[in-house]
Amino acid sequence: MAFPVTILTLYPEMFPGPLGASIAGRGLREGLWSLDTVQIRDFATDRHRSVDHTPAGGGAGMVMRADVVAAAIDSVPPGRPVLAMTPRGATLTQARVRALASGPGVTILCGRFEGIDQRVFEARDIEEVSIGDYILSGGEMAALTLLDACIRLLPGVMGAASSGDDESFETGLLEYPHYTRPVTWEGRTIPQVLRSGDHARIDAWRKQQAEIDTRLRRPDLWERHEGARVQPPSGARQKNGNE
Ligand code: SAH
Repeated sequence: MAFPVTILTLYPEMFPGPLGASIAGRGLREGLWSLDTVQIRDFATDRHRSVDHTPAGGGAGMVMRADVVAAAIDSVPPGRPVLAMTPRGATLTQARVRALASGPGVTILCGRFEGIDQRVFEARDIEEVSIGDYILSGGEMAALTLLDACIRLLPGVMGAASSGDDESFETGLLEYPHYTRPVTWEGRTIPQVLRSGDHARIDAWRKQQAEIDTRLRRPDLWERHEGARVQPPSGARQKNGNE
């Protein structure tokens, strides 16, 4: 069954945007996922069609009105998780992306201005999601990011080339580094082991590199991974002993 997506936004023209190209675009044309946008402004009730107002308590910017946003949410058929993109949400993870991609689809609310009246999150069943510790001008790019991550996992979208099981984060580690032709470039040669044709050695090397790189680049991930198993990284000591 296709993966239905509904986006609630003040800028429906931003969709599908980049998701109309490449594998997501092909998936959309083939009906592997579907897209619906809802213009939040259509639910404004005053004659100026206003969707925002100044913040209670004062301060800079504008806040999206609870009554208007809730009416937009209520216009979407129930039965799918409703996500709101906000820097105050739980940071998106590959595990959450995988769970969403295997679910019934998603409805995504995109904020603008200073954000959305907090009472909406209390009054409706909404999951607040952040894509990282930085501030965007609106939730649309965050929604596109979340969708791209979900869509590539939908059955049929990526083809048979890879199940994606090896990717960074799927194993709790960063992925090993990649190389391709030419064998020598600017005096740098592809590691010999990758040209050996010995698949057992190649697998072992890749696993070791993934562990070393995760430990050095993402100590936070490594610690979590270490906590889940008890083994030290195979060969990481010798390889990085001179740093
Ligand atoms: N005043 C808010 C930021 C508002 S940014 C604060 O300081 O928390 C405007 C909108 O952009 C938000 O409502 C949200 O929808 C979106 N947005 C900004 N940064 C985001 C992030 N890191 N993750 C998800 N959505 C984000």
